[in-house]
Parts: sequence; structure tokens; C-alpha cells
Amino acid sequence: MSCQNLNIRRSAYMNNKPITVTSPLLPPLEEFIPYLQKIWDSKWITNNGDMHKELERQLAKYLGVQYISLFTNGTLPLITALQALEIEGEVITTPYSFVATTHSIWWNKLQPVFVDVDPKTGNLDPKKIESAITDKTTAIMPVHVYGNPCDVEAIQKIADKHNLKVIYDAAHAFGVKINGQSILNYGDISTLSFHATKTYTTVEGGALICHSAEMKQKIDHLKNFGFAGETTVVAPGINSKMDEIRAAFGLLNLKYIDAAIANRKHIAQLYRSGLSNVNGIRFMEDMNGVTHNYSYFPIFVDTEKYGMTRDDLYELLKAHNIYGRRYFYPLISSFEPYKHYPSATIQNLYTASKLADEVICLPIYAGLSDDEVNTIIKIMKHLND
Ligand SMILES: *Cc1c(COP(=O)(O)O)cnc(C)c1O
Repeated sequence: MSCQNLNIRRSAYMNNKPITVTSPLLPPLEEFIPYLQKIWDSKWITNNGDMHKELERQLAKYLGVQYISLFTNGTLPLITALQALEIEGEVITTPYSFVATTHSIWWNKLQPVFVDVDPKTGNLDPKKIESAITDKTTAIMPVHVYGNPCDVEAIQKIADKHNLKVIYDAAHAFGVKINGQSILNYGDISTLSFHATKTYTTVEGGALICHSAEMKQKIDHLKNFGFAGETTVVAPGINSKMDEIRAAFGLLNLKYIDAAIANRKHIAQLYRSGLSNVNGIRFMEDMNGVTHNYSYFPIFVDTEKYGMTRDDLYELLKAHNIYGRRYFYPLISSFEPYKHYPSATIQNLYTASKLADEVICLPIYAGLSDDEVNTIIKIMKHLND
């Protein structure tokens, strides 16, 4: 199906509806029914069924990775990755992310150590990692925020030098490549989220990518109570299996993901050309050699130059029934469970704090019309006239 069709289906019921930051990628309902029929016929609805196996196979191929394990959401693969790699002590991570990144460290009774980010990408700044390493550090957990690839080479160099594991939270980076290579092939493990708000969705869902058959075996045990056979439990695993219905939803959505990403790219280009001359509004450009997925369109508001604060612009858009989101404000490091950590200070996290204070993610999703995008641009430009 083309993007055009997505537009038509949406505009039919779109009039006067609020424009939200995202809208789920929903395949045509009638195409989902035959998948459900198959599941009903088989009477096998979870526990590594045919749909689950097929989705793992197709995703590995689509993403260009060798070993992938499906999960019931995008948080449990992060928690499981830390367990599978037997991480101890301190984990270096970014405060500029969704809170699940740090929660996964907390759930393993490890210490998060927050390090500042690069203003251009929003990602962990490799230059600041080494000074945060102590004799307790065993891993780095960066995030490819907004789908912008981290400086994977620099991070790997530091990890090799200090004998640290690298776990990438790649929740935003479905389909992202650098120089034709999947971003998911860097580090020891990468994780994906297929939550409804993400570019590719299985309603709720996620996955873990690793680089050996042995590690995949270990992960698959850990996501199924630690069962290694009918009567053998090898670890205190959790239950984080994806069921057949969501795996089927994922198989169907794979047919639409390329059109959806192409549509998102078009919207990003409209925003960029529309906002390029607006004083005080900064946005991120495509990076050299990177295949982007356009999962978010963050803008950063310079109050003085723009003549309005970020929050006032956020409210102005709301008054027009347009709902941007301030991803990622507040920083994870300023939430109650984490604000007392020694690394959680504004001095230590100056750039992340600045981004968090300036950011609004504008609506972007397959099916958002040119008219809607142009309306948003018009509202944002009006101020500068
Ligand atoms: C969405 C998200 C997660 C968690 O994914 P769920 O599927 O909602 O559990 C983790 N990390 C980041 C950066 C996310 O955006």
C-alpha cells in the first residue's frame, strides 16, 4: 500500500480531531483477519508458535541482524540484557531518554551513573564517558535517541580499553543503518521497542539483538522462566514472551513499514524546509552515511531568539489542538528515584538539561497530511512575522 492510501484512510475521520505527536501504524483490519483465522485454527496462541518463529525470521532479514529474540515489550529486553551479560556494580548511561532505560538498571540492583550528551545528536558524549569510569563500572548503556546513531566506534574503543560491555537501548532505531550496516550490530546487545507509539509496532512488544547462538539461547531461556527443557530450569528467568496475536500483527505491519518510513521522511523534509528560516528554532539534520527512520521530529527553542519560551510554544500549539511532546523533559536524572545519585547534578548534565528545557517533538507519523504539517509550521512562524 502506498502512503497516499494511508493519507486517505486517515483524512476521512481526521477533520477537527486533535493532532497528536504520533498515531499508531495500524494495518488494514480486513488483512488481519486471515492471520487470526490461522491462529484460531492452530489453537496455539503463545509460547514460540509459528507466527513468533516467522516474525523472528522476517525481522532478522529485514533489519539485517543474525540473532533476534522477541519480547512482550521494550523494557524487559533491557532488563534481560543486563542479566544475560551478568553486569555488576555501575552502569554508565544517559539521562536524556525515556525513563525505562534507567529503570532497567535499577531493576537489576545496579547503580546508574549519568553522563552528559552531545548537543548535536542528543546521544551520550563519548568524550565524557572515561572520566565517569570507576573500578566498579562494568557496562555502558547508551541510547540512539530519536534514532540518531551514537558514536558507536568511539564507544566501542572505550569499552575495549576498560573491558566494559555495551548495551544499546535502540528503542527508537528500528531500521536505522550506518553505511548500509544495521545499527543493531554494534555493541554486545541492542534492544528494540515495538510499543504503539514507535515507528514499527506490534501494539506492545520488543526485541533483543545479540551476536551469537549461545547468547540467543541464554536470552530465550531468561524470557521463559529460565526453562531449558520440560523439567530443567537454569536461571531465575522472567516471563516476557510475545504471543501469537501480536506476532501476527507484527508480520502484517512489516508489509507497511517501508511506506510508513517514506511518509515520515517526507514530513521531516516539509518541516525542515518550512522551519529553516525561523529564528530561534533549531532542528536535527540527517547524518552523513545514515539511513534514518524519522521516528521523531524534535525542535529546540531558543527563547531569546524565538521570542517565546518552549513551554509557551507548547501551550500555543495545544491551543490549536496540536499536541507536541517534550521528549525528553524532565531528564531521567531529575525524577524522584534517581535525583539523589551523585551524577544527577545539572553541572554534570549541562547539555542534557539544556536540551530538555528547549525540546518539543512535533507530530510525525504515517498519514499526517501535508496540510496538517503546513498548519503547524504556519503557527510556529506567525510569531516571527
Ligand atoms: C519506548 C522506550 C522504551 C520502552 O519500551 P516499552 O516497549 O514501552 O517497554 C525503552 N527505551 C526507550 C528509549 C523508549 O523510547
